[in-house]
Amino acid sequence: MMNLTALVHNLRYSLLRVESRLLQITGLDTQLAPALAVNAPRLLPVSDQEQQLEEAQSPGLLDSIQWMAAPKKRRTIEVNRTRRRCEWKLLKVKNDIEPCPECGHLKQKNILCGFCYAKVCKETSLIRKQIGQIEGGPLRAPTTETVVLYEGETPSDQDRDKRIVERPRKRPAWFSY
Ligand SMILES: [Zn+2]
Repeated sequence: MMNLTALVHNLRYSLLRVESRLLQITGLDTQLAPALAVNAPRLLPVSDQEQQLEEAQSPGLLDSIQWMAAPKKRRTIEVNRTRRRCEWKLLKVKNDIEPCPECGHLKQKNILCGFCYAKVCKETSLIRKQIGQIEGGPLRAPTTETVVLYEGETPSDQDRDKRIVERPRKRPAWFSY
């Protein structure tokens, strides 16, 4: 009887070892045991209390899997389509589209024309580049206002003390003074 118990214990421990090795190989188990800990087969019988403690501590195969909530019933295609094509998910029809008064591209009412805005951005970056070439860096900029003058323009009396940038082209119609 005693030998049978020991045999059962041996079998159980070898099975546990195989399971933990499998978990380590598949990468499911992140807690690796120290290299020197040897899981030796036990020859002496153990008490019921110890056995219960061991059973509570030893990890099972399915313990490391996190179970997620799953739907219990399949939703029909009608229900799915009603949800997917409900009114607030559809694209809205825009009725406030008009041509830009400057360039003629279509744009939304009360919203800046993207084409004109790109032109303004390009001109502004050219002006910045020119200022950089003149002064050689942002630290040398004077602490005065900047006036941009185009071809055929002269600075007015109140603009004389300001920083003047002259652009070698005609003033664009969309670039207000
Ligand atoms: Zn425009």
